[in-house]
Amino acid sequence: MKKHHEAPTGLAPFPYTLKVSPRAKSARLKMTPHGGLVVVVPPGFDKTKISSLLLHHEEWIKKVTAKFDAHRQTPPPLSDNGLPATIVFPDFMESWSVAYMQTRIGEVEMVERQGNCLLVSGDVANTALSCRLLCSWLKHRAQVHLLPALEKLAAAHDFRYDSAGIRLQHSRWGSCSSRRSIILNSKLLFLPEHLIRYIMLHELCHTVHMNHSRAFWSLVHEHDPLCHSSNLEMKSAWKYVPEWASAQL
Ligand SMILES: [Zn+2]
Repeated sequence: MKKHHEAPTGLAPFPYTLKVSPRAKSARLKMTPHGGLVVVVPPGFDKTKISSLLLHHEEWIKKVTAKFDAHRQTPPPLSDNGLPATIVFPDFMESWSVAYMQTRIGEVEMVERQGNCLLVSGDVANTALSCRLLCSWLKHRAQVHLLPALEKLAAAHDFRYDSAGIRLQHSRWGSCSSRRSIILNSKLLFLPEHLIRYIMLHELCHTVHMNHSRAFWSLVHEHDPLCHSSNLEMKSAWKYVPEWASAQL
């Protein structure tokens, strides 16, 4: 049962939707791309405490709202060559705007500016050059986000691996070598949370079974009960990857 409630203006510092959930142990906040801020509370929660809860998390709310706003106002690609004006990593609630400036011929460079802005300058009319630069930046973002996420997941599920790295690969989402070295594809950044998690757990299970045997799949299922539907979904997961990141290689 969902119960929605619009906060009276003047009382709450931010507009929100209230959801009473019998499964909630305590009050928590979540931000959804289309529904905005949602306050989830257990039944019987004292609603007069919501304002102070919101104020307590003011910084987080502002930060995430800004990111969703940037995502919502996605402008079309700036140039005819299909280079992105916005880059979004949904699971990590990260959105970047990209500006291009044609200044010279032969090379391109890129700087990260405050407020998640990328400035690509130089020979930006050269799509291949600019694309290569964006892809190496993507690999860097993947190292920042995916490797710690893998580490956390491995710890939570009690898996051990020797090393992990990121590659921009054309046809594989991940791999695990006999030396228990895991490679993840940078493009995972564009996927929804449950698919990223599935790929990571799949590779972690390869640290135990180096094959796709029945024993392997039952181990994956043990750690990710949705693994079979996710595995099917992965067949069309390329749809999440923007063209500029797929075109490379
Ligand atoms: Zn596999």
